[in-house]
Amino acid sequence: MAKKVTPLMGQYNGIKAKYPDALLLFRVGDFYETFGEDAVKAAGILNITLTARNNGGDMTELAGFPHHSLHTYLPKLVMAGCRVAICDQLEDPKQTKKIVKRGVTELVTPGVAFNDDILQSKSNNFLAAVYFGNISIGVSFLDVSTGEFLTSEGNSEYVDKLLQNFKPSEILFSKQKRRQFSETFGDNFHTFYLEDWVFQQDYARETLQKQFGTASLKGFGVEELESGIIAAGAALHYLGETRHDKLGHITKINRIAEDAYVWMDKFTIRNLELYHSHQENAVTLLDVIDKTISPMGGRMIKRWLALPLKDQEKIMERHEVVSFLIDHPEILDKFQMHTKRIGDLERLVSKTATAKINPREVIQLKNSLEAVVAVKALAIHSENNALKLIGEQLNDCPALREKIKETLFEEAPVNILKGNVIAAGVSTELDELRSIATGGKDYLDAMLEREAARTGIGSLKIASNNVFGYYIEVRNTHKDKVPEDWIRKQTLVSAERYITEELKEYEAKILGAEEKILLLEQQLFQNLLDWMQQFIGTVQHTAGLIARLDCLSSFATQAKLHNYTRPLLDESFDLDIKDGRHPVIEQQLPPDSPFIANDVFLDRDNQQIIMITGPNMSGKSAILRQTALIVLLAQMGSFVPAAAVRMGCVDKIFTRVGASDNISMGESTFMVEMNETASILNNISERSLVLLDEIGRGTSTYDGISIAWAISEYLHEHPSRAKTLFATHYHELNEMTETFERIKNYNVSVKELKDNVLFLRKLVPGGSHHSFGIHVAKMAGMPQQVLHRANRMLKRLEKSHASEELTDEIRKVSKEEMQLSFFKLDDPLLEELREEILDIDIDTLTPVEALMKL
Ligand code: ADP
Repeated sequence: MAKKVTPLMGQYNGIKAKYPDALLLFRVGDFYETFGEDAVKAAGILNITLTARNNGGDMTELAGFPHHSLHTYLPKLVMAGCRVAICDQLEDPKQTKKIVKRGVTELVTPGVAFNDDILQSKSNNFLAAVYFGNISIGVSFLDVSTGEFLTSEGNSEYVDKLLQNFKPSEILFSKQKRRQFSETFGDNFHTFYLEDWVFQQDYARETLQKQFGTASLKGFGVEELESGIIAAGAALHYLGETRHDKLGHITKINRIAEDAYVWMDKFTIRNLELYHSHQENAVTLLDVIDKTISPMGGRMIKRWLALPLKDQEKIMERHEVVSFLIDHPEILDKFQMHTKRIGDLERLVSKTATAKINPREVIQLKNSLEAVVAVKALAIHSENNALKLIGEQLNDCPALREKIKETLFEEAPVNILKGNVIAAGVSTELDELRSIATGGKDYLDAMLEREAARTGIGSLKIASNNVFGYYIEVRNTHKDKVPEDWIRKQTLVSAERYITEELKEYEAKILGAEEKILLLEQQLFQNLLDWMQQFIGTVQHTAGLIARLDCLSSFATQAKLHNYTRPLLDESFDLDIKDGRHPVIEQQLPPDSPFIANDVFLDRDNQQIIMITGPNMSGKSAILRQTALIVLLAQMGSFVPAAAVRMGCVDKIFTRVGASDNISMGESTFMVEMNETASILNNISERSLVLLDEIGRGTSTYDGISIAWAISEYLHEHPSRAKTLFATHYHELNEMTETFERIKNYNVSVKELKDNVLFLRKLVPGGSHHSFGIHVAKMAGMPQQVLHRANRMLKRLEKSHASEELTDEIRKVSKEEMQLSFFKLDDPLLEELREEILDIDIDTLTPVEALMKL
């Protein structure tokens, strides 16, 4: 026998069937309800009560919350990774006797959100799509809340890096590629898969061209990105699928040009703690340098940090503006003062396009554009060419401002249904209705006066309620004076309520007018929004320029606050840092322990590789990281924490940290370390900067030293001569300088006291001869017996010259001997190798093939 289901549950089941992957919030009266599995999930995430109700013989779980709490509960669901379908009542329950019509009005997913409670003002909320093509992987990023749309393509390493950079809230891919996706990019993202047919070249192009209203994609510079276009098409397709059809703010797509930005792989981004850290509460570089004022500036500085420039001219243009702003503090102050008033122009304009903007926000948009007027004037009249150019491009949209001013009350409420949104003089119909509504009230007052005089009841009162509208209230003491023609409606303890013919007539007129006013206001507001659509592109462009100014002002502020200097960029391959500081550490030290600045010099001819030795905690990592951060800051257009920096642009930064610093990984950490390092060795170029921190530590001493040695040797012999800092506590590596001319030894100096060491933190030429672990153990509060025993063991080991023997061993196999030994033909393996080498036809060998052979 088929189970009987209530009509309401019948309706629910029908809608739920269309959104099987989403958590359905089902509006019933004043509540949003969830049922079954959705209820269990929602109750868990939201910490609300789970109950059960009888549903045609079956028990169904049920959990709900009042509709006005949607804005607190929805973000929690979405941030927990849920896709939430909001099912509303599509008609007024009072108007129908049958079951209320319901339908899904919005599907909110982690990557597609407009809700201010979900969005963070200084972060983008990206939806990403990934397409696995035959030759390359396409990836696109779309932020519906700002209209930014980016695409790119490359190998899995590159796409992985972009995913790490942009941290999308949701990633889409094709159903077939579920396994491939998690194998390639891991399981740390919120993902969703689409049908395979969505990922097609023709369909993607068509979708994009339709969105932009263009006949081709040539104008966007993405024409050649076959895979990138497919990914972008899929992202846009998804918006349609999630019922977002008002997308007038997505006006263009930009290419993330791989070759325009400094390459940093994901290990490097992680190690340098640029804008997120694995440790909770750790301070990132972004935390320290971000002095932006506007939300869009905040989002842009993050982008700049993720994608530092390689083009010297563009970088220097940024430096030029920063320098100008530092020299003209009055202009900088004014810029920032006006920027404060601008707010999130970018998101306001997106809300305009998607018709999600409220009247108060339209006023904000106008006020923001008014602040742009001042910024524009300031920029145009400055003595700096780059600023002038920005000023000329800023468009404060006078027509738009004027229109908003004319149309809306300055004090317009957030909710259009509150009324008093549309200004007087906009519509004669509205003005007339308003005078009826207020005139009617005047009439009622006059009537009250008249009736009071007629009946002699002094305490008459006119009021209204939902049940029978306007009424006259008479206190019991005057009951006997009530005239015949009044109709009694209600008796209270101390009063009675009456209506009259006249009262009813006027009530109808007032209520009719008030209802019409509300409708008309909504209509007129919508007309305004429609008219505003033509400004979307212009305002977006202006918002972008304000963000840029905000970032440059932030650099200037930071430079002034913390004594940063302008880096000098030249064509050389040198990196010459005088008195460099670590931007994050220097701000965290207590006032009584100042940061010790250090010089670092690297070039291709004499000092390509620096071996930095020193005990644990002496400051080796700090020197490595500050070197990378200084280069990064310089190339994103900022000033740098150093007395002076002269450098040629860097194209790639690699950093690797030896295993025991990141032991969180499960698989053989040493293997991971070697994998990571191998990818550096395969990618270095002559403008690369390589930072190796205790590489080789993850294995036994012998293994570790040998591997560290071999890597350094490789870097030295590689034709790129990539600049390298290698921090190690294996002082055995100091021996390398004897064989390799461009390797130089430095150490972070310490002063040995009687039983202790004093960290001087100064990088000085020369190697070290000790391992200082025992001193550190002492500082860490190790028991006396342990320290004593350790000291004795060390002395014994030192006596037996273990380490010297070791380095002697290594030296034995160092390069000359190795090269010679290839041709000592007493080893069958070498014999084979020799045959192979002789077989190579050098005349036809391409450089790449040569590398492969090697
Ligand atoms: P290592 O890599 O040699 O083990 P770190 O670079 O991690 O040492 O430095 C240890 C700590 O010393 C850092 O956390 C920092 O607080 C402090 N430190 C490092 N360099 C400096 C410096 N130049 N001036 C002041 N304090 C420093």
